[in-house]
Amino acid sequence: MRHVIIIGSGPAGYTTAIYAARGGHSPLVIASSVEAGGELMNTTEVENFPGFPEGIMGPDLMTKMQEQAEKFGAEVVYDDAVELSLDGPVKRVTMGSGAVHEAHTIVFATGSAPRKLGIEGEKAYSGRGVSYCATCDGFFFREKAIAVVGGGDSAMEEATFLTKFASKVYLIHRRDELRASKIMQERAFANEKIEFVWNAEIADIVGGDQVTGVVLRDTVDGSTRDLALEGVFVAIGNDPRTHLVHGALELTEDGTVAVDGRSSRTSVPGVFAAGDVIDPTYRQAVTAAGSGTVAALDVEHYLAGILDDAAAEQPAGV
Ligand SMILES: Cc1cc2nc3c(=O)[nH]c(=O)nc-3n(C[C@H](O)[C@H](O)[C@H](O)COP(=O)(O)OP(=O)(O)OC[C@H]3O[C@@H](n4cnc5c(N)ncnc54)[C@H](O)[C@@H]3O)c2cc1C
Repeated sequence: MRHVIIIGSGPAGYTTAIYAARGGHSPLVIASSVEAGGELMNTTEVENFPGFPEGIMGPDLMTKMQEQAEKFGAEVVYDDAVELSLDGPVKRVTMGSGAVHEAHTIVFATGSAPRKLGIEGEKAYSGRGVSYCATCDGFFFREKAIAVVGGGDSAMEEATFLTKFASKVYLIHRRDELRASKIMQERAFANEKIEFVWNAEIADIVGGDQVTGVVLRDTVDGSTRDLALEGVFVAIGNDPRTHLVHGALELTEDGTVAVDGRSSRTSVPGVFAAGDVIDPTYRQAVTAAGSGTVAALDVEHYLAGILDDAAAEQPAGV
């Protein structure tokens, strides 16, 4: 039986793997069959991960993390965890291929997914003008006209933050009133760089190599018009990937996996969680990596307890 199985191959999963492998636990990383490497595989330049002053492409950063984990003895499989059995001292993970793996501990690092608009052009321009993270990408839009889509607190916060860089921020909302809290609305209304575009949704995103504009559809009368801009920030929510653990692990009101304080300990002993799947707020590669470290140290502590107990139960001389 393995000491630890890590589900997820983003910054959280690979950082846990690096620590656990260096700790001599030969972790198994279940990387996913189609989305190995996590969210950074969907982006281009990452300029805010420490240690890369020239920036690094998201997929290159994830390849380096994987290489580092494998160098110390982590085993990576390109398969999906489809069923978990978490109660009791032996944890079982059933894979899409049908294989079953057992371990003393599980680290659940499945990340979260930003909600998509689901329109023409969105996928093609992701990382080339379409973004889901103002903190990550705002810097690339200095003196450019951009749009933020959404009507909640995060849309207001992202729009206000983006005015530090952009020359103009259109806030596109499909209704004529916002869901955001009053204080966030007032802050956005008071910002001269933000122009609200009410009762509108983006029907299409257009451009060449990069985004050059959007087609707006009026949600009341259905008419369309073009709007020239160079960036679209989608801020319509985020879904932690927790479907595998519904009913098995405690979740928070935000839908993230609940952990005990600053630790990675979930409601089930021996099951730990790290990265965006426990984080409703910060969701950055470096915070996910830090969270992966916490999980690895918690696993180490837990294993020390159970492996010592097992050794004590062995008859002398065995
Ligand atoms: C477009 C974009 C650009 C970004 N740019 C930046 C940036 O410049 N700087 C920055 O710091 N942050 C950036 N972020 C945020 C950053 O990518 C995330 O905070 C970070 O990747 C979270 O790491 P994680 O390991 O928690 O999860 P993820 O990276 O989401 O990885 C989770 C992994 O788990 C896998 N998984 C899920 N379920 C299963 C399962 N059942 N079986 C097997 N595998 C499974 C997924 O497929 C995925 O590979 C960006 C995010 C996006 C969407």
